[in-house]
Amino acid sequence: MSAGFKGFRVTKRADGRVQRTTSIPGTGFSYVETHAPGGSFGDHEQQAAAQESTRKTTTCPGCGHRYTIGKANFCSQCGRQLT
Ligand SMILES: [Zn+2]
Repeated sequence: MSAGFKGFRVTKRADGRVQRTTSIPGTGFSYVETHAPGGSFGDHEQQAAAQESTRKTTTCPGCGHRYTIGKANFCSQCGRQLT
């Protein structure tokens, strides 16, 4: 038997999920449950979204000034219309 209570074992998996194995002694019956780590997955999603928004920049074709796409219609440096 692995470490843990008799008929009940909790394992922290490499991917962060918690795996719980429950078995009923004498019957051979067992089942496995996995649980996502609470909260951390949502935080990761928000960080990915923030990084995505900061990448939406490009350079002005007229002067090379870097700007955020969709923030302005004209370059603040040279006044060129941005597409
Ligand atoms: Zn410009």
